[in-house]
Amino acid sequence: MKKRNKHQIQRYKLHIQWILPLFIILLVLSYLGIRFVKNLTYKNVYNNITELSEQTTAQLNLSITDQKKFVEIMVDSINSGYFKTADDIFNRYRNDLEDYHFTRLVILDKQGNGMTSDGHIVENYPNMQEFFNQSTVYLSENRPSTVSNNQVNIYSKTFTLNRKNLVLFATVNTEDYKEILLRRLFHGKGGTYLINNSGSILIDSFSDINQNNVNLYHYLKEKYQLTSEESLAKLDLMAENIRNKQVGTFDIKFDKSTYFIHYEKLNVNDWYVVSLAPDDTIAKELTTFITLSLLACLFIILIIIGICIYIDLSNQKKNHKLYKIAYIDPITFLGNDSYFKENGSLFLHNNDEQTKYIISLDIDKFKALNTIYGYEFCNQILKKLGEKLTTILPSNNITCRISNDVFATIFSYKNNIEHLLNKIFTEVSTLNIDDVSIYINLSIGVYKIKSEDTDINKLLDKAYMARAKIKGLYHDNYYIFDELLENKLIEEQKIESSMEDALKNNEFKVVYQPKTLTHNEKLIGAEALIRWEKNGNIIPPNKFIPLFEKNKFIIKLDLYIFEQVCKDMANWKKQYGYVPTISINVSKEHFVNENFIDTYVAICDKYQLDRRYIDLEITESATIDEKIDILKILNTIKEKGFTISIDDFGTGYSSLSMLQNMPIDIIKIDKIFVDKADLNSDKNIINYIMFLANRLDVKTIVEGVETKEQVEFVKNLKCDMIQGFYYSKPISKEDFEDYFNKNR
Ligand code: C2E
Ligand code: CA
Ligand code: CA
Repeated sequence: MKKRNKHQIQRYKLHIQWILPLFIILLVLSYLGIRFVKNLTYKNVYNNITELSEQTTAQLNLSITDQKKFVEIMVDSINSGYFKTADDIFNRYRNDLEDYHFTRLVILDKQGNGMTSDGHIVENYPNMQEFFNQSTVYLSENRPSTVSNNQVNIYSKTFTLNRKNLVLFATVNTEDYKEILLRRLFHGKGGTYLINNSGSILIDSFSDINQNNVNLYHYLKEKYQLTSEESLAKLDLMAENIRNKQVGTFDIKFDKSTYFIHYEKLNVNDWYVVSLAPDDTIAKELTTFITLSLLACLFIILIIIGICIYIDLSNQKKNHKLYKIAYIDPITFLGNDSYFKENGSLFLHNNDEQTKYIISLDIDKFKALNTIYGYEFCNQILKKLGEKLTTILPSNNITCRISNDVFATIFSYKNNIEHLLNKIFTEVSTLNIDDVSIYINLSIGVYKIKSEDTDINKLLDKAYMARAKIKGLYHDNYYIFDELLENKLIEEQKIESSMEDALKNNEFKVVYQPKTLTHNEKLIGAEALIRWEKNGNIIPPNKFIPLFEKNKFIIKLDLYIFEQVCKDMANWKKQYGYVPTISINVSKEHFVNENFIDTYVAICDKYQLDRRYIDLEITESATIDEKIDILKILNTIKEKGFTISIDDFGTGYSSLSMLQNMPIDIIKIDKIFVDKADLNSDKNIINYIMFLANRLDVKTIVEGVETKEQVEFVKNLKCDMIQGFYYSKPISKEDFEDYFNKNR
């Protein structure tokens, strides 16, 4: 059964192939999903940075406007003549400074001399021109503090006190701006720069820059090592946009991250707020989200695959069960008929150098063994035989149990086949089962396969034919298909090719063999038997019936004969007002169709015949066929009112106890019992059959009675009827009519 594994492996592979594309599709989907989310993240970060930058700018604008307003108010109140001295002014506003994040107020003249609100004297503060040139409140870029080393930004406005042109400074620490306005973004990884219109950095929230007048564009180039043309072009574009007072957002790549940069214009001095953040800072939360979703996806994929594998495995289990039912013989665990045909076919097509053989074999008188030892024990014989065969035969053998006790095997072999066959006989002749030695004799039919042979069924038929040939030959155990059988096969093929035409051309005829009552030798009925008249020759039934049973043509033919007989009977009824009982042979091939009897009933009804006078003969072998539910069939036949005979009784080894349950009317004892009537053992059997028939109230008839002695023998048995050449051979319808007019 090596091939079986091959089948399983193939099936397993097939299922894996289903899972793999699924897995790949899911992977691709996940990949696309990640790409989609990444894209989304990109847009999200892009929007985020823009929004934050806008917010920062707006806040800065608001602050600056507030501070400017405060300065405006102070100068307005000074100009209105309310204050006499600088001290008056300082005293009035000193306490409000903190609310507006101013560090101090300073009042200076054009030479830069004056004092601060916190009591410092200032002398010669540089570049005073810058402040005196402004008409509105002015906000300066970073400048040194008037009193400390800090950088400050100065809000200024000129005014006149006591007819002196002076300027009021309200200063903020540049450092404070950073804290209050330019918060560092995104956990410190992002930040904001305040730059003037030409790109000089005024404030940076990173606090990386200590000198004045650092150009943002150069600075970014260095900090983020921007060398690619693309990045530099983006920077240039930003510079140009800023000069043109436009806003914008772009990204640059640095160190595996994407940095988003947004520049937004302030309402003051054309200054710009430039915000910058790497995507990973913003994307961090999203990345966590993506990772979690991906893990979930992966988990789901794994679960799906798990489910697939589970379904697959259980399917395989189921398939394996079905496979076992369909292909494995439950008794020997070898393959069955279907398995043999499928795998035998494959075997035929392999290019083996060695000669291939096909063998059909069975155990002689296996039915008798069944009766003697019982089914259980005989199943063990079959199993043991199967095991032995597979080990004796070449390792490439495919050995199967085809039916009952029939095995078939196909293999290739380079040595002498007859040696191998003899080896089988000697090794298989004794089988040890449950410490009992069983002697069995095999019949083996062998066919040597030719290279042009391709149809396993035909080869099996040939091996079968060879085996059938052995049955009559007592001194031989095997038969190798030869010319003789080849010719027979050709003959059969001829018959097959002409059978349909023969039926159409009415070449099949019915003959009748009278049946006589034993006690008064009067005619009681007849058996209808078929004859094939071809070109003036008569072909006897044994030449074509077995073949027609094999190719199922018998079903058509039986019905044809049945109709012919019904026609004759209807005529007799009209002619003589009386019909003898006619026995008609019904092949067991009909029984595969449960409704077969309906056709018989319909034909009977067509000729308006009483079914009691129609006796359907069913051979005993049909009653022991495992595939037929014989009781059911006999009961339906009986229900329809036909008479039933069991034909060839005593040849089929049917168990006599089975008879008790069967609704039969007549037992037809086979010819061999009168042929061997001198043998004591057979006498005992026939006596027993008679005894049983009597007890079951079943009539008996003996067929094949040829001599006076045999008639006497039958009479002694108290058998009811006799059929045989002694009274009449099968005769034509006309002759039979004469016969029954004389003998009824
Ligand atoms: P069977 O049903 O057992 O029929 C009895 C056979 O024994 C007939 O052979 C008959 O001619 C032969 N016979 C009768 N008396 C004697 C005798 O005293 N001595 C000898 N030597 N033979 C005798 P036949 O007509 O050749 O038929 C052979 C078998 O073919 C039948 O055996 C039956 O199984 C089958 N058969 C015949 N006609 C039909 C049919 O219409 N349908 C089916 N299915 N089978 C048929
Ligand atoms: Ca018969
Ligand atoms: Ca018979």
